Order: sequence, then structure tokens, then C-alpha cells
Amino acid sequence: MRIARLEEYTTVEGPGRRTAVWFQGCSLACPQCCNPEMHDPTAGFAMTPEELADAIVHARAEGLTLLGGEPLDQASELRLLLQHLRAHHYQGIIMFTGYTWSQIIADPARAAGAELCDLVIAGPFEAASAPGRRRWIGSDNQTLHSITGLYAELAENWPKFVKEIEIVIGDEELLVNGTPLAADDELAGLFMQKGEGR
Ligand code: SF4
Repeated sequence: MRIARLEEYTTVEGPGRRTAVWFQGCSLACPQCCNPEMHDPTAGFAMTPEELADAIVHARAEGLTLLGGEPLDQASELRLLLQHLRAHHYQGIIMFTGYTWSQIIADPARAAGAELCDLVIAGPFEAASAPGRRRWIGSDNQTLHSITGLYAELAENWPKFVKEIEIVIGDEELLVNGTPLAADDELAGLFMQKGEGR
């Protein structure tokens, strides 16, 4: 399977201290997508579902967020990944997908991946209603689907939107998790304040 990023710990991609996996490749092309570099299905890096599951379990975070890119464009590999995780009794799996719920349940391969999650957040990113009213969710049109009940209470009382980012300093690049900033200038200003440059 093709992966864009694996972050062992983040606090801005869902509740608690979570592992996050950005899938590489997306066929949906939402206008003004924040992650266009994750559209090419041949980019990123390869891992087997077993290798990725082992890395996620090893991190021992409070849960896992799947996003992208588009997780359900690799539905078979996603199902294998989630089966490995569930075999390790892993809980707390939240998936963000650009497919609507009706598109998911109409496709057996997508549905098989979705039903192994605890919570699915479905629907394309729509810039007109972004960033929306809800924390961690890109736009107001996206819908919540509690699969196992683990996040049913959270889904009923979803936290309100707050603007939050997390800066990750990689070997060769600066990565930003969480709510996208309105303009690159804003990020540049942030670093200038800290005197670190960009
Ligand atoms: S589904 Fe996500 S990654 Fe794909 S185009 Fe839409 S916002 Fe971008």
C-alpha cells in the first residue's frame, strides 16, 4: 500500500494522543484540497498492511486516525490493515474519507473497510463551508458515522472548532498538522515571531 505520512503521535487529528496515517493517492479532486501532494497514487512510500499495523501497534497511542489522500482508494489494503489491528485488539480507529456515506455502503470493498473502523467521517471537502463548526473536521457537509459505538457519545457532542496546528520538523521539511492555515504568510509570520526563519 502507498502511504504519504505516518506520524506516531499527534494531538490535532482527533481526540487524545493519536497515531495518524495519511494515505497516498486520491481520485476525488475536491476543489481547494489542502493535500494535493497526496493525490498521485504512485508517490509516497510503500508498506505492507502488516508492516504498517505493526508500526501502529508499536506506537501504543490512544487511537488511530486515517486520512489522506483517500484511504478508501486502497480499500483492499485498508481492510487488511484494519484486520491486523483488530487482531491485536486495537481500538479507537477514526477514518476521514472524501466519499459520501451512500457511496461507501454502495461499494462492498469500501464498506468492508469502513465497518472495521470505530468512527467514519464521510464526504468531500467543500471549501464553501470550511473550516466549519466542528473540531478536526474540514467542512460542515461531512457526516459522522459511529460504527462500533466507541465514539457514539463524542459524535453526539462533538467539540466546537478551534484553530490549532502542530509543527513537525522533519529531516528535510517542515510539516504542519491540524487545521490548515489561511495563508503561507501566516506560517511565515509564526516562525518569524519565534526567530527561527522558515
Ligand atoms: S478526498 Fe481529501 S485528499 Fe482527496 S481531494 Fe478531497 S480533500 Fe483532498
